[in-house]
Amino acid sequence: MNQDDANQEFPRPKTVVENDAIRIVMQSVHAERKKIGLVPTMGALHEGHLSLVRQSVRDCHVTVVTVFVNPTQFSPDEDFDCYPRALETDLDLLARENVDLVFAPSVEQIYPKGFSTYIQPPDVAKPLEGECRPDHFRGVATVVHKLFNLSAANVAYFGQKDYQQALVIRHMVRDLNLPTKICVCPIVREPDGLAMSSRNQYLSPPQRQKARALWQALEAAAELVQSGQRDATLVRDAMRQTLIAAEVDRIDYVALADPETLVPVTEVKPGTVALIAAHVGQTRLIDNRLLE
Ligand code: AMP
Repeated sequence: MNQDDANQEFPRPKTVVENDAIRIVMQSVHAERKKIGLVPTMGALHEGHLSLVRQSVRDCHVTVVTVFVNPTQFSPDEDFDCYPRALETDLDLLARENVDLVFAPSVEQIYPKGFSTYIQPPDVAKPLEGECRPDHFRGVATVVHKLFNLSAANVAYFGQKDYQQALVIRHMVRDLNLPTKICVCPIVREPDGLAMSSRNQYLSPPQRQKARALWQALEAAAELVQSGQRDATLVRDAMRQTLIAAEVDRIDYVALADPETLVPVTEVKPGTVALIAAHVGQTRLIDNRLLE
């Protein structure tokens, strides 16, 4: 136990930073036939991340959390450089969750000199986020595939917060016959409805107020549908109006789509998903909701 651990009520989980180290540890866990849960994150952890961790700890014998800000899923004009990094605080949070192992590699570990093999993401990666962030899912799919291999995970936990990402991963697993099961966990929200996100810390107090509009727009959609409205154009317009009234700075998309293919719908049906991406100041926020 190091000095930091000795000062803590809860000892921090073992942290490894090298591919070979995690591979060796996890291969031996796998050989013992223990169920391995993986929670991939980019760190700056919040209750949303911790809900996935808790689900994994409940379901599995061994839980691995990865903390890696993945450069290949950011385009050059995005926030890779200033993305919040808080490994020490993350380890303190994870210490309370019975996590067995944290993998926090450097960029050079994951993408060593000469790295050039990428996953071509499935078709479901093309609309919405795929149109706004063209190489995003290629980077996500590639790093997630690598993390599955390195961790020998039986189950991997993702949040519904990143709805399209969870679909991309599920389709990749299906198409490539990967042995990892995917578990998608509900969105954790702030008391006023804003979906928790590491990027929320970029928001100034007035921007934080505006950011509530994403949830309000999803609520407006749900209310309209509950009251019998089925016309997707009308529901989408109402969502857009909510965002405009709150003066969000840019709307990337407001969509009502098939929950499995993300093809836009003209008629809202049970299970149709409503998705939003919008900018508040420089901060890009996403949120979604299944319409019952
Ligand atoms: P990130 O660190 O943003 O890459 O997120 C890591 C994982 O946590 C992803 O599977 C996200 O979907 C999930 N996640 C992020 N925010 C939330 C939230 N508010 N509720 C549930 N899961 C979340």
